[in-house]
Amino acid sequence: MMPINRRFLLARRPAGAPVPDDFSLVSEAVPALEEGQFLIRNHYASLDPAMRGWMDDAPSYMPPIPLGAAVRASTVGVVETSRAEGFAPGQWVMGLNALEDYSVGVAGGFTQPIDERAVPSVTNYLSVMGAVGLTAYFGFLEVCAPKPGDTVLVSGAAGGVGSLVGQIAAIKGCRTIGIAGGPAKCARLRERYGFDAAIDYRGKDVTTLAAAIREAAPDGADIIFENVGGTVLDAGLLNLRHGARIGLCGLISEYNAPEPVGARNLWKLIVHRASIRGLLVADYVPRFGEGAAQMAAWLKEGLLVADEHVDEGLDNAYDAFMRLFSGTNEGKLILKIA
Ligand code: NAP
Repeated sequence: MMPINRRFLLARRPAGAPVPDDFSLVSEAVPALEEGQFLIRNHYASLDPAMRGWMDDAPSYMPPIPLGAAVRASTVGVVETSRAEGFAPGQWVMGLNALEDYSVGVAGGFTQPIDERAVPSVTNYLSVMGAVGLTAYFGFLEVCAPKPGDTVLVSGAAGGVGSLVGQIAAIKGCRTIGIAGGPAKCARLRERYGFDAAIDYRGKDVTTLAAAIREAAPDGADIIFENVGGTVLDAGLLNLRHGARIGLCGLISEYNAPEPVGARNLWKLIVHRASIRGLLVADYVPRFGEGAAQMAAWLKEGLLVADEHVDEGLDNAYDAFMRLFSGTNEGKLILKIA
């Protein structure tokens, strides 16, 4: 029987939170290869909040996913057949591909060989050794410039990026406060990821959340690693220390909002001579090797816990993706395809 290529397509642009009809799962023939190309059997795909932005028709750091195309995603998989030098059948690879059984890679493109024996699980290349881990590593160390003794406030702290930022901060001798949704996640922050304090943002307005942060950090935060925005960022801004650095990594609370929400307490940057800087992991591509080696070493030393939440099946892609917005993922969200 000829293999088929199931593909999870963007059928129309979501208005607000994506709904199932924004996507369609189709079965197509496996693509034929041209010279210089290789066929990847995708085994796992990374489900990232950024994918929501790529579904909009808006200028960004990447072009929008075209309508009718498979939803763009980082994947790890195995080269099935090849007409490209350096990509032999059986080789594990990772790259920016799509939610589909088979993707076509090109020599000199984004897809790179990986060593599946160097990690406990090949999925680690989508989590701690992948973009999420390297966002935490470079975003925190380069943009937030931590010093021992700094108080670090992390939002989205139980997620893929946030949980690693908290642990890297602890390795660097910082005091860590995590913000996450619900008592179970807050317990996880303290018990599993070693945060010194955890705050549940759910059901709190800016004033009550700011008061909870103040209780945990009476002298304010030297660093905020911001993944959420909205109320959470507004409350963080009310708790800055002099010269604080805010690394703006993400604004997930706004990704499904019809309009940007914006930050309402920016005047506090003036009061505290604080800075806020956006960060993008893609800027560190030339240094990925260095970051991945350090993350691997910390993992081996037992200094990092890197949780992965793996859901199964392309037919489950929508429900799995939406976990990012309901907060029901426990660790880096990954979809098993093969
Ligand atoms: P994640 O944190 O594992 O999952 C998303 C989490 O966000 C959810 O589990 C949920 O946790 C929280 N969340 C969702 N909607 C929320 C809302 N309305 N208000 C508050 N919290 C909400 O995802 P991730 O992959 O690690 O990404 C985290 C952030 O980093 C995202 O903003 C993403 O865009 C950003 N990011 C940026 C870069 C970059 O280069 N700049 C790279 C990777 C990721 P709770 O249950 O705690 O609410």
